[in-house]
Amino acid sequence: MRARCPICQKPTRSEQHAEFPFCSERCRRIDLGRWASEEYVISEPLTEPNASKPPTKTQPGKRNEDRRRR
Ligand SMILES: [Zn+2]
Repeated sequence: MRARCPICQKPTRSEQHAEFPFCSERCRRIDLGRWASEEYVISEPLTEPNASKPPTKTQPGKRNEDRRRR
């Protein structure tokens, strides 16, 4: 299977690249980081139904931990 790396647009092949559709682990991590920060922005109102509550500071730290583990 062929595709393009979503990060650097390099052609990739599922049979050659372990990180398919990314060309390398580096690009996979970049995409993961982008996705995680986007998700954080989108999910913020959902995790905070009470608007009068101050923003939770524990959540971003938790996500950073998750990213480091991978
Ligand atoms: Zn790439």
